[in-house]
Amino acid sequence: MVKSKICLCLTGKTLDEDIRYVNKYRDFIDLVELRADCLTEDQQLKIREFPQMIDVPAILTVRRKSDGGNFSAGEGSRAVIMAKGLAYANLDKTKNFAYIDLEDDFNVPSIEEAARAFGIRIIRSFHNITGPVQHIEFKIQGMSRFNDEIYKIAFKPNSLSDVSRLFKEAEKLEKKDVILIAMGSFGFATRVLSGKLNSFITFTSPSHESGALQAAPGQIDPETLCKLYNFRNINEDTKIFAVTGFPLAATKSPLIHNKGYQLAGINCVYLPVPAARPEEILDFSSALGIRGLSVTVPHKETIMPFLDDISPSAIKIGSCNTIFRKNGKLYGTNTDADGFSKALLDFLGRKNLKGMKISIIGAGGAAKAVAYGVHALRGKACIFNRSLEKAKKLASAYGFKFASLDISSSNLLSKYSDLIIQTTPIGMLPEPDKDPIPFYSFKGHEILYDIIYEPSETKVMKRARDAGCRVSNGFSMLVHQGALQFEFFTGMQYPIDNGLLEKITKEK
Ligand code: NAP
Repeated sequence: MVKSKICLCLTGKTLDEDIRYVNKYRDFIDLVELRADCLTEDQQLKIREFPQMIDVPAILTVRRKSDGGNFSAGEGSRAVIMAKGLAYANLDKTKNFAYIDLEDDFNVPSIEEAARAFGIRIIRSFHNITGPVQHIEFKIQGMSRFNDEIYKIAFKPNSLSDVSRLFKEAEKLEKKDVILIAMGSFGFATRVLSGKLNSFITFTSPSHESGALQAAPGQIDPETLCKLYNFRNINEDTKIFAVTGFPLAATKSPLIHNKGYQLAGINCVYLPVPAARPEEILDFSSALGIRGLSVTVPHKETIMPFLDDISPSAIKIGSCNTIFRKNGKLYGTNTDADGFSKALLDFLGRKNLKGMKISIIGAGGAAKAVAYGVHALRGKACIFNRSLEKAKKLASAYGFKFASLDISSSNLLSKYSDLIIQTTPIGMLPEPDKDPIPFYSFKGHEILYDIIYEPSETKVMKRARDAGCRVSNGFSMLVHQGALQFEFFTGMQYPIDNGLLEKITKEK
């Protein structure tokens, strides 16, 4: 496994803008890539000065549109920009570009000769921005010209299987300096685990908030790579964990787990790995030696047939959100129910739900874990759901009542209103204006626990709070279920006592 260098891609319109990003991320990077194709034409004339304006090595790249860049004029004009970047080489090499990116089909011998003469290393690249590249070894053999070149292949995977294949093929490559990248969310692991691919460089972009153009899909900013994913310390001994689901848009689980590893001082990393099918994440896990998985929508139920053993609670709930290896076998369990119970009891300041009459809104996957938890804590509940059949099925498993989720149930909801637990996605981003129980008027005595955590206050939470009710969102449930997973994965207590829960809540 190599120690990959961290490269910041610079896609500013001006050199000044690019220099601001270099300064911002200087502590987290080893080199930069000046994407001259993103500069305005007058700024392109000044690129020769750029290496002297910064104190890190720089790659010169003029990327064509067809390769994911911005350059749309002809190859002749592209060669002229490159020539401008290389001209008048300085004897002090730090004042020249350190690398130049030349695509596999770029054929201008004078540029290559100049680069060699001035000691500028060539990155020979191949990009496929519409699909995967098969047979990496043959592809690199076909690209090989001189031994001192670095071979870069970047492609868009169609699925996680394309990324698994890349990791498997990379293991067999003969020793050459290579850069291997699968772009987009499927390929995120190739950014963080670039060392496992023996990649010479991992590429990063300034954060979205900075307003910078992302150089390629899937890149993150170098500070997040170093601080959240602990990139500099990843080595052969690092234990890898992941969260999977589809599409797995914005998950907070990497924050919870990675913070936990850092506070506990253990050599682990936790990545988001989207997979469209459960088989794909299991194949990826065995290819990379992943030790544990958090599982989310839509795989919590569909992954169960692939497991060797499942905990009694996960069987009763009917879903697995946690998978790890136990005695060499794939073991599945569910931490949603216990995580929910812990979070709820903390919020209520109670030891159980005895004597409480509780409404559970929704009867989907999360409601199954909630119903299990409410029953285990001896609460009496009524389940309200749009599809009555599902409410009936879930209620019958615990001897609860059930009703449809509409105005005809408002009296029944009033009767079960000591605690209202909202488990539907209604009110979640990107539709925060929706309310799952618009027909119900809060009186002020109700306690509302909404398991949604984004936004941090849903519309129904605001209505309840305005009426004088105590309310909580579901972030504490997320953290507690993650903390329980952490314990299954690492065998260690989650460092929650150090005020981490509060810290994470503030950072989110
Ligand atoms: P799910 O299995 O798809 O269930 C969705 C439930 O919401 C079903 O009962 C469904 O009713 C109901 N529903 C959906 N759209 C509706 C609509 N327009 N009108 C009325 N009812 C509607 O989803 P899930 O996995 O349970 O997740 C639900 C929410 O919980 C998500 O927002 C998720 O982010 C959140 N969650 C949070 C945590 C946490 O740790 N805080 C953990 C897990 C889930 P039907 O049965 O009639 O379709």
